[in-house]
Amino acid sequence: MHCPFCGTHDTKVTDSRLVAEGDQVRRRRQCAECGERFTTYETAELVMPRVVKSDGSRESFDEQKMRAGMARALEKRPVSVESFEAAVERIRQRLRARGDREVEAREVGEEVMETLQRLDHVAYIRFASVYRRFQDLDEFRAEIDRLSQEPNLPSGDEGGQR
Ligand SMILES: [Zn+2]
Repeated sequence: MHCPFCGTHDTKVTDSRLVAEGDQVRRRRQCAECGERFTTYETAELVMPRVVKSDGSRESFDEQKMRAGMARALEKRPVSVESFEAAVERIRQRLRARGDREVEAREVGEEVMETLQRLDHVAYIRFASVYRRFQDLDEFRAEIDRLSQEPNLPSGDEGGQR
């Protein structure tokens, strides 16, 4: 693999390990020429189902769009890049595991919500409030109450002082 810093052809792998529950290989590489280090992720390329939108139109699965939505929900949240990548991979995997050639956009949203719920409650609430548009305020409040019973919901928005 070429060095992204100096473009030389010769980079060597210094570490290689499985991440995302074994669905990804993470490689640390170092350039023999300029000495810069960087990381690559290797994932099996499998065909994702096509997405059926609510109006019945079809489009190809747009991972960038999904990532952007998740990243917005996770803004300033204490979630590592690795956890984020693992979450994305989990969603991809679950969508493929259905074995269907098509999946409804709504179901993709549900998978994202379920995954975010495990990852970070605040991000989940942010995503769900935009995506699901809770039926009414009571339902939204009930969901927040339910989550606040669980241990890892931070009290302040940014953690703040205690
Ligand atoms: Zn280099």
